[in-house]
Amino acid sequence: MSESKQVENVIIIGGGPAGYTAALYTARANLEPLVFEGFQWGGQLQNTTDVENFPGYPDGVLGPEMMSQFRAQAERFGTRFVTDDVDRVELSDGGVQRVFLGDEEYRAKTVILAMGAEPKRLGIPGEMELGGRGVSTCGVCDGAFFKGDRVVVIGGGDSAMEDAIFISKYARELILIHRRDEFRASQIMLDRAREQENIEFKTPYAPLEFVAGEEGKLEKVRLRHSETGAEEEIEADGAFVAIGHTPRSEIAAGQVETDENGYIVTEPGSTRTNLAGVFAAGDVVDHTYRQAVTAAGSGCMGALDAERYLRDSPPPVEAHWMPGGEPVELSPRG
Ligand code: NDP
Repeated sequence: MSESKQVENVIIIGGGPAGYTAALYTARANLEPLVFEGFQWGGQLQNTTDVENFPGYPDGVLGPEMMSQFRAQAERFGTRFVTDDVDRVELSDGGVQRVFLGDEEYRAKTVILAMGAEPKRLGIPGEMELGGRGVSTCGVCDGAFFKGDRVVVIGGGDSAMEDAIFISKYARELILIHRRDEFRASQIMLDRAREQENIEFKTPYAPLEFVAGEEGKLEKVRLRHSETGAEEEIEADGAFVAIGHTPRSEIAAGQVETDENGYIVTEPGSTRTNLAGVFAAGDVVDHTYRQAVTAAGSGCMGALDAERYLRDSPPPVEAHWMPGGEPVELSPRG
């Protein structure tokens, strides 16, 4: 096993708005952050087109472009990036935090967990098997493949509306399927979807199966009426599952406290987790707001919390003897 030479001040795991904002703030505080931004850096905004609700962009901005700017701003102050996915972590309560990339071990006095969230799956037959053959979780990525086709979008939140509006620019016909008659989506997004002539709403129906045709591509979606239980099949060339997200907390699960849905638990009004020196920010914590701007705000809080922790706590005992660790005067934690 190879070892990095030094104990970092702060390692940030995550390359979305929370991670990059935490990097910007810690870099400006001269903490020389090391960011594990993931192989597909940029987080969920990498899969978005127009962002119209991030303050400071009166004309809107493309999601990937905004994330490039976040990254560049953090880099300007000395952030270092590792463009890969962390394999595992060994978190400690006030000791040295360990992050592993394959056999490579990285150590830090603090870690900010900002891994974000990922799309939820329906868990029905055909969903995984037909991934890339008609079934997708990313309208913005795959919508253009369905030009002139008949497409379904599943879900009743803003993600489903956003996907439906985007894909309807390509699809001939789009059917939005939702399991209830009421929608979780904001009124403005719902109205925009309803204004599209080629979008039809089909409620209350839940999908049961994605059925392949002879060529092994999606051909039909089997549905059940949520109230009567009656089943039916509708033809579709494409199906987009847009039913929300799951926090990407798996590498920290069992080490740091999480709630029943896997979101990392932080002290109210702070990014402190149950482990001293371990902070969490962004969508891996937040199941309420889940916006780029709130993720960025909590990334800022994570950076300030980590900075204060480093200022007020003696370095971990192990940092005393680790290569590159600062020689410290050992005193009990205050
Ligand atoms: P939401 O949790 O808001 O909505 C998920 C939808 O999927 C719900 O309608 C839910 O149904 C449905 N659903 C969940 N599980 C299943 C299932 N197993 N089978 C069938 N249907 C299911 O998630 P979103 O991703 O839509 O939005 C998350 C947050 O992000 C929100 O705060 C939203 O406002 C925001 N957002 C904002 C955007 C923007 O402003 N441009 C774009 C996208 C998201 P039910 O209602 O019955 O529970």
